[in-house]
Formats: sequence, C-alpha cells, structure tokens
Amino acid sequence: MPITDPIKKQIAQRKRLYLKICFKCGARNSMAATRCRKCHSKYLRQKNRTLGIKKA
Ligand SMILES: [Zn+2]
Repeated sequence: MPITDPIKKQIAQRKRLYLKICFKCGARNSMAATRCRKCHSKYLRQKNRTLGIKKA
C-alpha cells in the first residue's frame, strides 16, 4: 500500500532511517545506543540515510 501523503511519507522515512542496526543480530537500536540492546555487541551501523532521502 503506497503512502500518498508526502508529509506522512517524510515522517515515516525519517523515523525508519533514524536508527542503528546491529551487525551481529540485526536488531534495531536507537541513535543514542552505543551497544546493541539485544546481544550487547558494539558493532552497530547507521542505517543508510542517503538512499532513503533520495526517493523522498
Ligand atoms: Zn545485536
């Protein structure tokens, strides 16, 4: 189901992209997190935001 409202889409994308992903288990963590909340790994990556913004 496509989101037609561009403002809602922007908010959704920002929320979706504003997080860190654990390299080990793939869990989503907050931007403030330094360790994974699930496996406590330090290997977190930022979600690639440039890709999401390009489409918006
Ligand atoms: Zn993890």
